[in-house]
Amino acid sequence: MDRPQVDMAIVGAGFAGLYMLHMARQRGLTAQVVEAGGDVGGTWYWNRYPGARCDVESMEYSFGFDDDLQQEWEWTERYAPQPEILRYANHVADRFDLRRDIRFDTRVTAATYDDESGHWTVTTDRGPVITARYVVMATGCLSTANIPDIPGAATFTGPTYHTGRWPHEGVDFTGQRVGVIGTGSSAVQSIPLIAEQADHLTVFQRTPTYAVPAWNRPLDPVEQKEIKADYAALRAANRQSSSAFGGLQPRNDVSALAVSDEERHAEYERRWAVGGLTFLGAYNDLLLVRAANETARQFVIGKLHEIVEDPEVAAKLTPDQVVGCKRLCVDTGYWATFNRPNVTLVDLRETPIEAITERGIRTTGAEHELDAIVYATGFDAMTGALARIDIRGRGGRPLADAWSAGPRTYLGLMVAGFPNLFTITGPGSPSVLTNMIESIQQHVEWIGRCLADLGAAGATTIEATPEAQDAWVDYVNSVAGFTLFPTCNSWYLGANVPGKTRVFMPLPGFPTYVQQCEDIVADGYRGFTRA
Ligand code: FAD
Ligand code: NAP
Repeated sequence: MDRPQVDMAIVGAGFAGLYMLHMARQRGLTAQVVEAGGDVGGTWYWNRYPGARCDVESMEYSFGFDDDLQQEWEWTERYAPQPEILRYANHVADRFDLRRDIRFDTRVTAATYDDESGHWTVTTDRGPVITARYVVMATGCLSTANIPDIPGAATFTGPTYHTGRWPHEGVDFTGQRVGVIGTGSSAVQSIPLIAEQADHLTVFQRTPTYAVPAWNRPLDPVEQKEIKADYAALRAANRQSSSAFGGLQPRNDVSALAVSDEERHAEYERRWAVGGLTFLGAYNDLLLVRAANETARQFVIGKLHEIVEDPEVAAKLTPDQVVGCKRLCVDTGYWATFNRPNVTLVDLRETPIEAITERGIRTTGAEHELDAIVYATGFDAMTGALARIDIRGRGGRPLADAWSAGPRTYLGLMVAGFPNLFTITGPGSPSVLTNMIESIQQHVEWIGRCLADLGAAGATTIEATPEAQDAWVDYVNSVAGFTLFPTCNSWYLGANVPGKTRVFMPLPGFPTYVQQCEDIVADGYRGFTRA
């Protein structure tokens, strides 16, 4: 057998690809990263819309694998803004000298397994093919923009933007009539700032969203120092949390229905005053029991009606799904923005979009004249980036075929019939339900150890068995069915992309998952064949 050019090809230079490259080198493997973007950072390279920032606290949304790195990096705000997270990604790349093995501005178009040589051939839109023994798809769960196919879209004469493909030089909306389509997290962050700048903002809302306040603030250096003094404790606490964050504001391990109305209300008030996603950690059954969720839902709706002055607008903004079923939004002045005289809410449930015209957006109710349109319409999540690569495994079988009824993986890490191909934060793993940096670290470290163990066992190929994969898919479905997540049309289910198979893709419960990964290793890589 010929030697492949590199031991490992890695697709993507977001946090997953960066750490995977570092890990490969630490394990003595040669690696080549290919990145479609012009630089490192992934999500934080592409999403430069106004207000983009993380909604997991900075001290938690960062790598913990290297103590010097976590000690030296200083965050300036409780929730880091996009430019700062991008600087951090650049710092990681420079600190570990990663750039020399990254090919930028290059898109991977195909990855093909050769049964005979046991090598993968990775084809790109620029430059030579790469042959590698291992391929790691670090392509991101939220990296493929979803732009709805609205009739007439190409006829609009003004500029259009997608939040996840924002121009690097920024956009000045001064004096303009702007339309924003969508009310998910990206919209919730950008709408207040666009409204401040634009002459008029029209928000096109299909599904109302819940939002909890961020209460973002400068990070107190003393507070930061205290956390760093025992950073290991915070990281360990996060790894014990179902969402891999919240160590700064732990979850109450009690049912919402086990306490009095007064006590519950006080706890919701306290969490609201703290701010952030850990609002949902007030009780342990908010995403399990509808009646429990309803108590939180009513509390948040009460806040919405306190903030929004016009009762008709407040009614339109009121969501009816389970709170947290779609990813909870963390906001700074989102609902209050609808009190501004220059902001109009269009409820697409009452008047759906008919077409985009030369002049704006026409709903069944009116034509809204606009100078610019912002698509805050999200992503073809979790599978979109993989589906856009022609991946072929054993016998030339396309991944699209293997996943025709929805994604099927073992542990969210490997796919039966696709030897030596790994997915970081793939479907069937906790991924998007967690602080993703923790999930990325856990996957990269698992892959690193797996390959070291493979070498030690004198093997070069690892592959998930179809039986183990089937059992895993059933398990993920059963866990999801135990929660309230499948009760709404979220992107977790693929419901935001017309025609996409509806399967709940992530696995709830980080610590149990990590333990399962560990047990499988301890059992000699149960469910995998190694040769
Ligand atoms: P990405 O950062 O998405 O990187 C994947 C890279 O792969 C991209 O650069 C892409 O260009 C490249 N790529 C894909 N396909 C190809 C191809 N065919 N060829 C070459 N390159 C390719 N998570 C949290 O935990 N907390 C948060 O607060 C949070 N906020 C977010 C805010 C926004 C606006 C978005 C969109 C996501 C957010 N996330 C958050 C999720 C975020 O995606 C992850 O936290 C993390 O950044 C993912 O890193 P990654 O390396 O896995 O993927
Ligand atoms: P999203 O949550 O999928 O929201 C997209 C919005 O566009 C939804 O309101 C959706 O409505 C709407 N939409 C989609 N297609 C439409 C159509 N054809 N017509 C009208 N409306 C349409 O996407 P996102 O806001 O970009 O967020 C995606 C994820 O990225 C988040 O859930 C989160 O995980 C991450 N993120 C995090 C932050 C943060 O705070 N750190 C910020 C941004 C993103 P429906 O709900 O009806 O589908």
